[in-house]
Amino acid sequence: MKLAVGICGFQPGYEIILKQEGIPFRTISEDYDFEKEDFAVIILGRNAVSRKEKIMDFLHSGGFVLSEAEIFAELFHLRIKTKKVDYLIAEEKSDFSEVDFADIFGKISIIKDAKSEFLDKNLQIRFRKIGNGGAIILPFDVNLLITDFRSMRKKFYYPRKEQPSEIVAKISKAKIRKIVMIALRSLFFRNNLPLVRLSYFPENWKSIFIFRLDTDFCSFADAEKMYEICRQNDIRATWFLDTESDEKIKQYAAFKNQELALHCYKHKVYDTERENFANLEIGVRKLEKAGVKPVGFAAPFGDWNLALAHALEKMKFFYSSEFTLDYDNLPFFPFVAGKFSSVLQIPIHPVSLGRLRRSHFSEDEMLQYFRQVIRQKYEKREPIIIYHHPHHLHFNIFDAIFKEVSEFENLGFLTMTEFAQWWKFRSNLQIFPEFSHNKILLKKENLNKNVSLEVQIPQGVAYLNMEKSEIDLDEIDFQKEKSRGMKVDYKYLHKKGWREFLYDWETRRNKKK
Ligand SMILES: [Zn+2]
Repeated sequence: MKLAVGICGFQPGYEIILKQEGIPFRTISEDYDFEKEDFAVIILGRNAVSRKEKIMDFLHSGGFVLSEAEIFAELFHLRIKTKKVDYLIAEEKSDFSEVDFADIFGKISIIKDAKSEFLDKNLQIRFRKIGNGGAIILPFDVNLLITDFRSMRKKFYYPRKEQPSEIVAKISKAKIRKIVMIALRSLFFRNNLPLVRLSYFPENWKSIFIFRLDTDFCSFADAEKMYEICRQNDIRATWFLDTESDEKIKQYAAFKNQELALHCYKHKVYDTERENFANLEIGVRKLEKAGVKPVGFAAPFGDWNLALAHALEKMKFFYSSEFTLDYDNLPFFPFVAGKFSSVLQIPIHPVSLGRLRRSHFSEDEMLQYFRQVIRQKYEKREPIIIYHHPHHLHFNIFDAIFKEVSEFENLGFLTMTEFAQWWKFRSNLQIFPEFSHNKILLKKENLNKNVSLEVQIPQGVAYLNMEKSEIDLDEIDFQKEKSRGMKVDYKYLHKKGWREFLYDWETRRNKKK
């Protein structure tokens, strides 16, 4: 039995998610013939309707599928109702509870189906048994949500009266990924199969810590103070430099054991590829003159648009990082104008100390906020990537954070480039494990030391090196892992008050400067 997911037709949103999760998948083209044994789960797409007979055979012989409501309704002749929603909140006690809530800002489709049961009523996720197999039905269009480029100001929850906010991606893409992941896992388990995927981090680390700095025309004295704190704590930060002053570039170039990358020449993202390209090119040339060869880029204001994406590709950047495209998520290659970009996107936690200050956090509250974000990401095995502007000072907060994370067990410390390099290596790995007699079988040519495997079964999870081509599940000690975040006040979070209007106005004013 193969442990791969089949995707019906070309579905870029699902491909992004499966690559992020490291789950092996194959695209099922129009004329591709398949048997029950070929796929642990099939994700149905638009072309599923024209292949109805094949899919019914698959289901009746015990196959499992993930479908969206509209496709499912068409296949099974069900009535459907659509509704516009801003966000969905998961049930308190369902398989999907850890999602908390997901910003959708679009249409959901609700099927009328007496033969299916709710897995999460609030999220409108259903399961229906069909033949010896079954289907999980999602209410939204995953491809549409994952390839959405809109942004808006959002509040980030922290248990106090005033919440920090930032302009970030409108759709919570990480939450959509989690919903798809939980649905797939449930289908693997219903199929009595383990879910096998590539780990998120190298070296079997539980998480990684990356510290990003945007220099934003700060004084060199402030940058130097920040550098000193990094150096004292052995933190190799990734610095995104403004490049107006050749004098300052020379000083940055003397930093030891730090990554130097490009922030901007003019602190702006333009609407045309030509202007963005020109701005990037000046910045890169100026850095190169000082002996700095930047491979990474982080845009002013976290802004991202198609014109910038094209310019970054043309300049052959290795990676970029913009929270208006995505935040608090795993890296991915954005789907730009009909194809996947060659520039890896590395999402970060988008709330910086400047935003906390604007929301009147005291110094102690700022430290507590970052401690809480970091602790939660570590417990959930998500990358910890935070950023700062040296001109916002408060260096002692970062000194305290660095000292705290240095005590974390099994936490890796990387620069953005190091993480991007490893992630690209992982993205290119094509492993297709098989499952037989409670053993996972890997091909010899796939074995390597750089990426490990995560194996999930209903009893727990295990992290394994990919050094043996046969993994006997009877010999493995599976651990239960469960962690929920803090309770979030969703209603309050989504209510727009006068402060958010004021901050939007301030952002527009800053961009005009
Ligand atoms: Zn900036």
